[in-house]
Amino acid sequence: MTTFIVLLGPPGVGKGTQAKILAETTNLAHVSSGDLFRENIKNQTDLGKLAKSYMDKGELVPDDVTIKMIRDRISRPDCSLGAILDGFPRTPAQAEALEAMLAEFNGQVDAVPYITAAESVLVERTGGRFTCRANGHIYHQTFNPPKKNGICDIDGSELYQRDDDKVETVTVRIRVYLEQTIPLVEYYRKLGKLIEINGAQAVEQVTKDLLAALKK
Ligand code: ADP
Ligand code: ADP
Repeated sequence: MTTFIVLLGPPGVGKGTQAKILAETTNLAHVSSGDLFRENIKNQTDLGKLAKSYMDKGELVPDDVTIKMIRDRISRPDCSLGAILDGFPRTPAQAEALEAMLAEFNGQVDAVPYITAAESVLVERTGGRFTCRANGHIYHQTFNPPKKNGICDIDGSELYQRDDDKVETVTVRIRVYLEQTIPLVEYYRKLGKLIEINGAQAVEQVTKDLLAALKK
């Protein structure tokens, strides 16, 4: 038996934060498409170079390379029981590809928490986000500050502000989300898998709501 959970929601709503907490409480792997792209950029791979050209503009990386990257990732042994997918799928074509690849692994998407918040909240959260260089741990200058300024509590690496978290790029990312990802809300609702979660609450409350909804 596998369990695949897809976290759906706009940029900055708290998917990564919640995915990390859920991964710890459930022992499922955390698979973040954004983290995988950033790892490729850090390692200067061809995929990283390609992805960066889209990410810098706030646009989506093309479906074919994104799907291949995720297929490779969920084929790894740590996903044999399933995974929490954070940031994938983001287009209808990705959702269909996911269904096909999970069918191959005798799995399926079990639940799709859809985390929402007003645009002003997204701008505030991305604007204050700090990300850890080594492992992508997530902080916020006001809502979740590190103990030591600029240093990750968990692994001591440097914290940085993502280039695509500047407000102009966030505005583009929200528009791209509305155009290309919102169709997935109806797609998963029709399949009876969508669970709506209010993301405009404290981290702990969002986690409580998620765990309660996933138990059902
Ligand atoms: P956020 O967590 O703020 O939503 P991500 O780290 O998930 O941001 O994504 C950052 C960027 O990486 C996106 O703007 C996009 O360029 C690229 N990206 C991430 N996931 C996908 C995906 N599933 N399909 C296409 N591009 C993606
Ligand atoms: P996403 O993966 O959806 O882009 P993140 O989990 O990276 O979102 O969160 C975006 C920013 O908002 C981070 O700086 C994070 O620390 C902060 N954050 C996440 N959840 C909450 C919350 N419930 N309340 C306040 N800030 C939050």
